[in-house]
Amino acid sequence: MSSTTTVLRTLLLLALLATVACSPSGDASTAPSRSSSPSTASPSASAPPSASRSGSLVVMGRIVTMDDPAVAEALLIDDGTVAAVGTRDEVLAIAGDDVPVMDIGQNVAYPGFIDAHAHWIGDREYYGLDTAAEAIQAALERGWTSIAELWVNPERLTELETLAADETLPLRVDGYLTLNEPQPNGAHFGDWYADREPGAVGDRLRVRGLKIHLDTGFELGLLWDADELNATVVAANERGWQVAMHAFSIEPIDQALDALEPVLGPNGPNPLHHRIEHAMQVTDAQLSRTVAMQVALVIHLDTAATDWLSDPDGLAELGGETAWLSRYRDFVDAGLHAAGATDMPWILPDFKLTDDIGRPVDQIAGGMDPRGRVFPEPPPWMATQLLTAEQGLRAVTVDAAYALGDEARRGHLAPGTLGDVTILSGDVTAATPDEIRAMTVIATIVGGVPALCAHPDVCSQLVSED
Ligand SMILES: [Zn+2]
Repeated sequence: MSSTTTVLRTLLLLALLATVACSPSGDASTAPSRSSSPSTASPSASAPPSASRSGSLVVMGRIVTMDDPAVAEALLIDDGTVAAVGTRDEVLAIAGDDVPVMDIGQNVAYPGFIDAHAHWIGDREYYGLDTAAEAIQAALERGWTSIAELWVNPERLTELETLAADETLPLRVDGYLTLNEPQPNGAHFGDWYADREPGAVGDRLRVRGLKIHLDTGFELGLLWDADELNATVVAANERGWQVAMHAFSIEPIDQALDALEPVLGPNGPNPLHHRIEHAMQVTDAQLSRTVAMQVALVIHLDTAATDWLSDPDGLAELGGETAWLSRYRDFVDAGLHAAGATDMPWILPDFKLTDDIGRPVDQIAGGMDPRGRVFPEPPPWMATQLLTAEQGLRAVTVDAAYALGDEARRGHLAPGTLGDVTILSGDVTAATPDEIRAMTVIATIVGGVPALCAHPDVCSQLVSED
């Protein structure tokens, strides 16, 4: 398939965004056909058996904490929660003799990576997976310990709640209940969320956010009357729900900020961490308002800036205006919490899931080197918008946790945080983008329990002592 055809399909699908598969009725009869041979990463990866929902272990090796100290030699997770971070001697003294030790050797441990905007479970049929378990496994294999599902209708909510009730969620899921269709006319579903309280459902699922589509991607028609949107955001905020608004370009971002200002005031604060999704085109004035109101942004550091915007037809939808596009560095330099998220599966060329896409390392490397997968050459305006590895790392840890409103517990490793850890084969803070992309996932640990172990030498230590 030609690259032009591919990108047009990508753009079209962006604009249409899963109308059928995402419909409340769940009628997927016209969804893209499933791949006959779905690809999943690391077929050798497997999770050791564990009946426990929370575990205790010492992780020993180079540990990047995203906290203070920035790098530690050892980490104690006690009953699912981080109990100590420090030197080997300090942590072992606290842990005592009964806690199993995972020596990660030359590998590097990070706070469990958080995909703050995706559709791993809900849109799995688009990339050829049949079951939620397969989709979750694909996310774990790529190094995510938390995934956010950004389009949860009643049917999808039932599935997530069933997974949570059965205690079959090996990672954490944050579900965002959708208030409208993405297209063609943004059909509204009313306040169907209002019969429940925002919060946790069991220990792995949280449902405290709402998803509102303001536009259809490149087709810039607005899906909400401003007064109705403002009233909806006010009502959601009063009930304690976080609002995540899909706003692609200037006009819908104005609408989002205008809806948030009555709730937050012109200068914040933003205690529920209301957020804007995608934010592909943001003017200087809008950036100033976003900073003042402390609105969180969710962006896509891999693929989107190049593949979504390199197509001339896509740019034409934006009026051919190349100013203010994909301002990732501007967002970070302005002090915003900008989460780097996959938007899986809407980044997949031809909806083909391969081992080298949809990973945290792709977000980090993509921020440094925003090459496209359909259009390899980054557009010229990206030259001033590159991130450092440290900034990309923040985007999938601390800032992603902020976007979920859970930054006290996730995105960093310190006493009291959740015992979620991803172990990679290298140090992303001392590597080139290509070296980062070549890193592999050694293990993902959720609540002190190894959810995935791809490296027998590391994980066998735990299995044998469990
Ligand atoms: Zn999405």
